[in-house]
Formats: sequence, C-alpha cells, structure tokens
Amino acid sequence: MSKRDYYDVLAVNRNASETEIKKAYRKLALKCHPDKNPGDEQAEERFKELSEAYSVLSDGQKRALYDQYGHAGMDQQGGFSSGGFGGTPFEDVFGDIFGDIFGGGGGRRGGRGRRGDDLRYNLTIAFEEAAFGIETKIQLPRHQTCESCNGSGAKPGTSPETCRTCAGAGQVRFQQGFFSLTRPCPDCHGEGKKIADPCTACRGTGLTRGQKTLSLNIPAGVESGNRLKMSGEGEPGAQGGPPGDLYVVITVKEHSIFQREGNDLICEIPISFPQAALGCELEAPTLEGKVKLKIPAGTQSGKIFKLNGKGIPVLQGYGRGDELVVVRVETPTKLTARQKALLDEFAQEAGEEIHPMGKSFFDKVKELFG
Ligand SMILES: [Zn+2]
Ligand SMILES: [Zn+2]
Repeated sequence: MSKRDYYDVLAVNRNASETEIKKAYRKLALKCHPDKNPGDEQAEERFKELSEAYSVLSDGQKRALYDQYGHAGMDQQGGFSSGGFGGTPFEDVFGDIFGDIFGGGGGRRGGRGRRGDDLRYNLTIAFEEAAFGIETKIQLPRHQTCESCNGSGAKPGTSPETCRTCAGAGQVRFQQGFFSLTRPCPDCHGEGKKIADPCTACRGTGLTRGQKTLSLNIPAGVESGNRLKMSGEGEPGAQGGPPGDLYVVITVKEHSIFQREGNDLICEIPISFPQAALGCELEAPTLEGKVKLKIPAGTQSGKIFKLNGKGIPVLQGYGRGDELVVVRVETPTKLTARQKALLDEFAQEAGEEIHPMGKSFFDKVKELFG
C-alpha cells in the first residue's frame, strides 16, 4: 500500500505553521485514539498514520527532508518505514492536562512489580493566576523508596530470600474438583520473596514517609475542576514496579469584580442616570489595569460594551476571550429635598418625546386594552 501524504493525513496545507500542525494532530488523534476505540483496527491504523505524520512534520529537520524528498527521504532516515511507533508523541502534545482524558487512570500492566498508587493534590489558585498561568511549588506528602535498604525491605547487608512455598512465583496452584487454579501465595502474599530480617528504617516495607517539593507549571486559562496529570509523581511502585501518577486538581478563587464565562470576562459597572443620559468616560477595570471606556449619551441600562481580547487566554490554544462590560444605571436613593424638587421639575419638563421606548410600550398597551 502506498503511503498517504503526511500533510493530507493531518489535513493541513503545506505551509502550515508548527502550531497549526500540532492543533490538527491533537484534534484528529483525540478522535481515533485506540483507548477511545477499543478493538477498532481501522482507528488504530489511522492513529498510527497520524502519529507518524506528526512525528515528521513537527520536527523541523525531518519536515524539511520530507518536503524535499517525500517519503523516500524518510526511509533513508531509517525507522519510519518499519511502522514501529512505540513512542508516539501523543503525550507530549496533549501535555499533562489532557493526559487523563481517556480515563483508565494509567496502570499499564506487564513487567514485574506492582505499580504505585495515584495521588491527588488539591490546589487553589487566584483568579488572575488561572487567567495567566503560574509557576508554583507544592509540598507533596508521599512515600519514597527507603534509603537504608534501597527499597528491598531487607536489613542492609541482607537481601530478601526467595519464597519456598511458591519458589518465587508469587502464586500457588491448587486443585478444586477438575480444575487447577492459581491464587496468590499465602506465605509471601504474592511477592515471591520473603524478608527474614526486615529493615528497621521502613519496617520491611521498602518505603518511608516523606515530602517532595514539586514545581508546577499551571497553564494560562485553567478553570476550576481541571486536572493536571504529572506522570510518575505518585507513590513509588513496589519491587521495581513503576510509580503512580499525580493528579493536581485546580480550584480557582472567585474574583471580586469579574465573572468568567468560557474565555470571556464579565464586569458590571454601575453608572448614574446623568452619566447614562449625558454620556461620560469611565475607567473600566481589566485583568491588566484600567482602560478608558466612552459611554455615549443616551446609553440604556444593561448595554454591553466589548473590550476585544481583554478576556482569558485560551487553554493550550491561541488567542484570548473578550471582556464584556455591562452598564447598570443606578437609580438614586435617599434624595435631599432640593434633589427631589429638581427631579420633579425635570419630570414636568420631560415630555414623551425624550422617552421613546416608554411611549411605544404604552401605545401598545393602549392598543391591547383600549
Ligand atoms: Zn510465596
Ligand atoms: Zn528500608
């Protein structure tokens, strides 16, 4: 079968930027990731094809070779024609924040040793920190491999012995009726080894309690509920098993004047009736300081003014949302006698013609009820 053009595979044009290529790959790979389409060979093939195309087009050098020589240029590089794409760039592109999107929570089987547990860490950050991203450090309480025994659990100078009951297999066979079944060895609890002389520092567990300082890079645009996956930062595995993963769950604090809706910011600004009627210039707050905002004469309460690009940056994407300033006309309370008199005078002076909305509404009421 002849190979499809890599640009066609990713559905991008030949002068697509690096970011466009990444975006296209992410979108398509999400659709046909094998974890999402179990048993679907076509999806698996398509995924391989995508990963191959991406691994070439995302690499400046390989891409240049490919542009010049096509697939032939790749074959000379070796590796790409074999079809072996064990290390797909999938994880890289999605970053940790999407690492858990397919569920399952990791836990790839195979190999020796038990995988360490996953950990969860709740992190609360300020509204602005969520908007623009933040680098922060956390203190994560977790177990670590015992330094005295290097995790073996046996007293330094001794080593664990192979379990005699199961001869190190960790399982024993037994007969039940016609069936021969296996179950975890009761003597060594499936470990295959027994510790005659346990390490005193960890009491034979191979693990000690500790605290790890981790640097986190929270990307701009995160929202409450987002989970960041940090592969391999969970509890250590046992008997050489891989460590678990750490999930950092984000909570974003509320802001005193901004509300978030998707990537847009909403800010309600109260103005007085004279300001609304005569027009004015306001100082509207944004995430990056104040900007001047002209309110034209005759502005109605509820009118929205859009400040382009003053919203929240798109998470793992490009561009920003907008800020929507909602103007609320505030009706005065607690008037002085003079203020009341002035308003009375104003009301007598104001005819129907300066309130066209009111006039047309009451005309309609008249039509309805006579
Ligand atoms: Zn055993
Ligand atoms: Zn120990």
